[in-house]
Amino acid sequence: MALKITDECICCDVCVLECPNEAIALGEEIYEIDPQRCTECVGHYETSQCVEVCPVDCIISDPDRPEDRDTLYQRYLRLEQE
Ligand code: SF4
Ligand code: SF4
Repeated sequence: MALKITDECICCDVCVLECPNEAIALGEEIYEIDPQRCTECVGHYETSQCVEVCPVDCIISDPDRPEDRDTLYQRYLRLEQE
């Protein structure tokens, strides 16, 4: 499933450059993940890079967006064609 950032985000900015899909950007108050661009890093890395670097562990799986690995991989393929 796509990931989401909780309101515990301290806007440190470190996750932005780690995302291979440019899925993370500053929203009105905290950073936000575009669910149409998040593949959980499938296609690029074995683990979610933003989760690896977030110092306050505020990036979680979005329970409202259950997606299997094939769905995430198809999204990766679509993004690669952009
Ligand atoms: Fe980007 Fe990967 Fe984090 Fe999704 S899991 S927002 S693709 S770094
Ligand atoms: Fe927010 Fe975590 Fe990203 Fe820093 S690394 S901007 S705390 S989500």
